[in-house]
Amino acid sequence: MPVQQIVFFQDGEKSDWNNIRKIISHALKNQHFSMVYQPLISVNTGKIIGFESLVRCQSPKFGVISPADFIPCAEQSGQILELGNWIFQKALLDLKCMLNHGLSDICLSLNVSPVQLLNSDIFEQIMSLLHTFSIPPSAIKLELTETALINNPQKIANIFNAFKREGVQIWLDDFGTGFASLSLLRQFNIDGLKIDRSFVDGIDNNNDDFTLCSAVIAMAQRLGLFIIAEGVETENQLQILSQLGCDVVQGYLLGKPNTLGYNLEQWAL
Ligand code: C2E
Ligand code: CA
Ligand code: CA
Repeated sequence: MPVQQIVFFQDGEKSDWNNIRKIISHALKNQHFSMVYQPLISVNTGKIIGFESLVRCQSPKFGVISPADFIPCAEQSGQILELGNWIFQKALLDLKCMLNHGLSDICLSLNVSPVQLLNSDIFEQIMSLLHTFSIPPSAIKLELTETALINNPQKIANIFNAFKREGVQIWLDDFGTGFASLSLLRQFNIDGLKIDRSFVDGIDNNNDDFTLCSAVIAMAQRLGLFIIAEGVETENQLQILSQLGCDVVQGYLLGKPNTLGYNLEQWAL
């Protein structure tokens, strides 16, 4: 039996995963999900290189529900497969729109759940959408957390290799929070590392966080990996990350997640 979880909604009301499952089903039927996009900025040029796509759920009854609350539940119930389908379709349609509206060199990074990797034809699904929308595979990145690499590593390595042959890069999300070892990075042929916000948070006031970040960046550079720092909120953090040699930064300082319309107006000039 799965452990039930208590989730706190904005109005302070509590719910368990049974309720969240119902909310997700209802939201899928009634189009309560939407996508927002957060800019990824090159440290060298200060220019936008792309966006991370992030899902949102606006329930009429509970208000805005955080993906940090509903994604784990959707993974446990299997609803992530239907929700993930919808996310890929919507995000790639929006990417097509961005490419057509002046953001011609950008990439879109998509969060992928381990459940999708192991239980769906994710390769065929994404390649078919890219084909339908005439989007080059190099315009997308897939973000996976370290835990995604642990179960069935051979199957996952095969899927990664299939994507890489098509030119789709794989980034490891939340790096430092899981159990990924350096050898795992090489075994899976990862292209980029996203340093978790919890380390970036303390980079300018906590010696341990600074030491960890600088060691991770130095190591990633030697392995030829692309380095993205997430959760950058202050100029001070940005300056330190830039000095350490980070390639790309993402965080509220550079731009909050926002709707496609806002991003087109703001960035496509
Ligand atoms: P994540 O993939 O690590 O996404 C980054 C999270 O950090 C996002 O939260 C983003 O809004 C937040 N963030 C970005 N910059 C800052 C900052 O400067 N300060 C702070 N405090 N937060 C910042 P969000 O959108 O609530 O997403 C939470 C998690 O839910 C994501 O973490 C990801 O694990 C999952 N998720 C979101 N969208 C999707 C999706 O489309 N598919 C899947 N499978 N998971 C998703
Ligand atoms: Ca992510
Ligand atoms: Ca992350």
